[in-house]
Amino acid sequence: MNKDQDSSPHFSDRLKLFKADLHIHTVLSGCAEIEMIPSLILWQAERKGLNLIAITDHNAWHNAEAVMEAAVGTNIHVLPGMELQSKEEVHLLCLFDTVEPCKEWQEKVFQKLPPLANKEDLFGPQYVVNAAGEWLWTEERLLAQSADMALEEIVGQVSSLGGMVIPAHVDRPSYSLLSNLGLIPADMAVPALEVTPYFNWRKGFLEWPQLKDWCLIVNGDAHRLNEIQNRTQFKMAQPEIKEMALAFKGQEGRQVVVEWPDQ
Ligand SMILES: [Zn+2]
Ligand SMILES: [Zn+2]
Repeated sequence: MNKDQDSSPHFSDRLKLFKADLHIHTVLSGCAEIEMIPSLILWQAERKGLNLIAITDHNAWHNAEAVMEAAVGTNIHVLPGMELQSKEEVHLLCLFDTVEPCKEWQEKVFQKLPPLANKEDLFGPQYVVNAAGEWLWTEERLLAQSADMALEEIVGQVSSLGGMVIPAHVDRPSYSLLSNLGLIPADMAVPALEVTPYFNWRKGFLEWPQLKDWCLIVNGDAHRLNEIQNRTQFKMAQPEIKEMALAFKGQEGRQVVVEWPDQ
């Protein structure tokens, strides 16, 4: 495709709509329900009309590949990623286009994750499954804890791997930028912020006026199937990180539209 074609008046015709939930846990997260296996996640995503999802378990990506594999032949595109817990105890979605950079990121994260054993009684089991949802192995390392990595370091390193960081559930009273830092750092090089499905923008903007300056998206942070959301829609050419970055900036016809219930 050359530049002239790109600037043709019909350029925006090539853009497609992607209904997305970019924050979905699987059975690898101890706190997720046993129903969070590839086939059921995809089944529910389809029922919700989604065609773009991201798999984001706590500090680990292992089940993302199984969901990607299970999604082959469906209309749903799956981004691999994880929900990282920084040393400030802030949760950050780290999203990638493909498996390789995600694997590389996982190695860095495991080097910075204290080698504590999971206590299944307290935190739940952490299962790795295949595309059919069959058990492969149980991750014994405790995943839901802070990696010894600071926010800035995380954003820089994920970006250098071609990934994208979106601070998770910033309106949540724990494990979020606003609860732990009291603000969104002005120099934080992230393209958008995630709010929970319970975020009420009228109240939220009064409480945290800073949020008005940000592109907000809603994901489900789904630990069970019925928590998967269909509130965020991207208009873009492909379901890719660089396209999402354009959409967050509203550039080249790309855009993000979030459905807000009457509040
Ligand atoms: Zn979280
Ligand atoms: Zn989560």
